[in-house]
Amino acid sequence: MLCGAAGFLGSHLADRLLADGDRVTGIDNLATGSPANLATANSHPHFRFIEADVSLPWTWARDLDKPDLIAHFASPASPVHYGREPLATMAVNALGAMHGVELARATGARLLFASTSEIYGDPLEHPQPETYWGNVNPIGERACYDESKRYAEAYVTSAVRTLGIDARIARIFNTYGPRMQPGDGRVIPNFCMAALRGEPLIVYGDGRQTRSFCYVADLVEGVVRLAKREALTGKIVNIGNPDEFTVIDLARMISQIAGRPLEIVNAALPPDDPRRRRPAIALARKLLGWEPQVTLRDGLPATLEYFRLAAGLPGVLASRRSIVATAE
Ligand code: UDP
Repeated sequence: MLCGAAGFLGSHLADRLLADGDRVTGIDNLATGSPANLATANSHPHFRFIEADVSLPWTWARDLDKPDLIAHFASPASPVHYGREPLATMAVNALGAMHGVELARATGARLLFASTSEIYGDPLEHPQPETYWGNVNPIGERACYDESKRYAEAYVTSAVRTLGIDARIARIFNTYGPRMQPGDGRVIPNFCMAALRGEPLIVYGDGRQTRSFCYVADLVEGVVRLAKREALTGKIVNIGNPDEFTVIDLARMISQIAGRPLEIVNAALPPDDPRRRRPAIALARKLLGWEPQVTLRDGLPATLEYFRLAAGLPGVLASRRSIVATAE
């Protein structure tokens, strides 16, 4: 069972599980997910979709076969999206996790909760290992997301200790790739769409803040290993790519790949925007034998091409070879 199946990550995870031979019941209320993301899954005989809000009681679960795995990936994940719907974001993370724990307890299913690097807030420790407790503003504009994920982590780990369920938590760092929404407000969609349209890239603040971007295929591989390996009960694992870039580095790279001169306009830095973010992934390497394979430079062309097709814009990548040649 996969909550948030129509989302960016959820839909890729659905496709992967189906390809592995699993049966998948996808749940989504389509608040930020898109039915188009499920085109591949919907054509698979082992996929079933239920439109439902996982923050409400899971009455639909009574009619399903006992799941082996409950994966909770349902939540707005872009600061723009959760900023628009803070209360729904808190509900889906907090109540969704509670409903997931309840079903895991009742059925014996394993629970995988999709948490986030946002639980580290604006980190004072760098890079961020799983042992770091974070630096979160509990009443800021990002708090609806950060604190509800933190609540869910506390709830799930408490349930592991007291109810004996088998739950694991993936702390997911910035991830990108096909199926992101062109208008979701995150930096890679914004920069790709601006570059494709020949518009300036809008950099918030001075652009020296950093992020570490993981290609979606790598992310899914890490998540599947965390979900499927035995003897990982209660484990909390960072899944992300430790290659760190400033926002300016990213703007430069996307402009080069799109074949545009770098044109930047500065805008105000949103409140509580983390200054640096980079996962420590020693635990993922040790427990899962996992590390990312796709560099940012290798993952961006397919991502840019996806945005071009999604927006119905004319081709730019035909000339990419000469662009890369001039850029390097
Ligand atoms: N950002 C930017 N321009 C944009 C969108 C985002 O400069 O059009 C910056 C944002 O301030 C942040 C970083 O890019 O420092 C990553 O933002 P995003 O919304 O993708 O995700 P976050 O990691 O903050 O959740």
